[in-house]
Amino acid sequence: MSDTEDELTAGYRRFRAEHWPTAHAEYEALAQGQKPHTLIVACSDSRADPALIFDAAPGQLFVVRNVANLVPPYEPDGRLHGVSAALEFGVKVLNVKRIVVMGHAHCGGVNAMLHGAPDSCADFVAPWVAQGTPVVQHVAETVAPDQLERAAEEAIVRLSIRNLRTFPWIAEREARGDLELSGLHFGIAEGALTVMTDKPRFEPLA
Ligand SMILES: [Zn+2]
Repeated sequence: MSDTEDELTAGYRRFRAEHWPTAHAEYEALAQGQKPHTLIVACSDSRADPALIFDAAPGQLFVVRNVANLVPPYEPDGRLHGVSAALEFGVKVLNVKRIVVMGHAHCGGVNAMLHGAPDSCADFVAPWVAQGTPVVQHVAETVAPDQLERAAEEAIVRLSIRNLRTFPWIAEREARGDLELSGLHFGIAEGALTVMTDKPRFEPLA
């Protein structure tokens, strides 16, 4: 077995030994169905795990993770839209009350928008991150260089929130007050969240 498999197996053994004895009743109840209160769009980055950051129990968060926490616009064209499929199920079937887009510091996907995707990632990463390139280029023209990375990460969260509102069944629910959209950014080194407001830059979460 590889070292990675050993780490996974060891983690599973700890889950069974330390967590399962007290958690099994909760899982048995969840086997009847899920009722998550929040849908989270986050980055695939291994350092920004929504379940850990929000100290969430199984069944509470419906999580969509991808490179750079991007939500593409509403395009019901019969193609393979994984993010949109998760949104549709989360909103229409699970009736989540909130959608949170959470960006994070030192995001490789946003870095690829600013400086180009790795040469080896031309098939999928480059076209995926290209949807955010105009937004981060605009940021690059308007903020100081030492603010660029963070400001670009915040701007991508804002882009995803704007694109969420292109889904008619999201916009309708938000207009009715049945669905709340919010944007967050996770500072990895500080372990702290900042929140999107009407102000240009995100602010510390109260
Ligand atoms: Zn990222």
